[in-house]
Amino acid sequence: MQEIAFIQREELKEKPDTASLGFGKYFSDYMFEMDYHSENGWHDPRIVPYAPLTLEPSSMVFHYGQAIFEGLKAYRGVDGTIQLFRPEKNMKRFNDSCDRLCIPQIDEEFLLHALKQLIFTEKDWVPDGEGTSLYIRPFIFSTEPYLGVRPANQYKLLVILSPSGAYYGDQLSPVKIKVEEQYVRAVIGGVGHVKTAGNYAASMKAQEKAEAGGYAQILWLDAKENKYVEEVGSMNIFFKINGEVVTPRLNGSILPGVTRDSVIELLKYWNIPVSEVKISIEEVFAAHERGELEEVFGAGTAAVISPVGELNWNAQSITINDNKIGQLSQRIYDEMTGIQLGKKEDPFNWIV
Ligand code: PMP
Repeated sequence: MQEIAFIQREELKEKPDTASLGFGKYFSDYMFEMDYHSENGWHDPRIVPYAPLTLEPSSMVFHYGQAIFEGLKAYRGVDGTIQLFRPEKNMKRFNDSCDRLCIPQIDEEFLLHALKQLIFTEKDWVPDGEGTSLYIRPFIFSTEPYLGVRPANQYKLLVILSPSGAYYGDQLSPVKIKVEEQYVRAVIGGVGHVKTAGNYAASMKAQEKAEAGGYAQILWLDAKENKYVEEVGSMNIFFKINGEVVTPRLNGSILPGVTRDSVIELLKYWNIPVSEVKISIEEVFAAHERGELEEVFGAGTAAVISPVGELNWNAQSITINDNKIGQLSQRIYDEMTGIQLGKKEDPFNWIV
């Protein structure tokens, strides 16, 4: 494996108070950096002080947006060890994102090794309060100074670390969701199945509108018929209908979440019926009408599980499970966070 160089900082930063962490506000002392040039591939892997970058204004990323990222967390386990949750899935998805945007592939094994080395260097930045974690943000963008439209010949890969606070206080809390009827997140054949920066830029208008209406997040429908459920905010979505759990089938415009995959595996392990289906919002509302819509929840790295208490679509609002945390939502949340913190057995070998 390539040697990873290390450049030491002169002074370490003061670490923030655990209570004030929030999300994405503080960054650790070091970052991992590596560059790509079409002449010599990915080169010069190094751990360097977290610091501003200098880029040419003509760097292609500013004009044509070849920018992708990943998001995962390091947890401080109950025995003090630092644990990653299925990081190889994020490495694989990172490469899928590279592929879709014509960014050269990375060596997944090497990047995971580099990531571990960075986290080891920054182990004191992994917080140990209830629900806290060290958020890991790998990203790649094109740096070549050129204004012609084509895939760039030069890129930069960075991994930055941000200590994050608990998503919830004492307990999970159900959220109000607006089903978006005007804007769409992604189209089949587009880039919705990977993590490109542009997906998030494109989603903000609808999110802003939802927030102005008093909703926490958006439930996205398919772009073609504006009918089938895709995902909720930056989470995948699950419905428990009459004892069975369903989630939208991956169709090319839905992001294949690591949490989504884990929830499906966990339900199978528990012998709870779960299936990946094409489900319309009309069917969800009809299930509610019949009294069969038992639980709705989002699943993603940030919150793990986020119960949905209210859904608004077509000028109609429905309340799910009396706006209370569903039994299954709670059970999945406890199991997943238990595994992530080393409090529970890990029969799937998810922890690294
Ligand atoms: N959908 C979108 C659009 C997302 O941004 C995320 C967060 N990465 C997810 C779903 C959930 O994915 P994961 O479980 O891998 O965090």
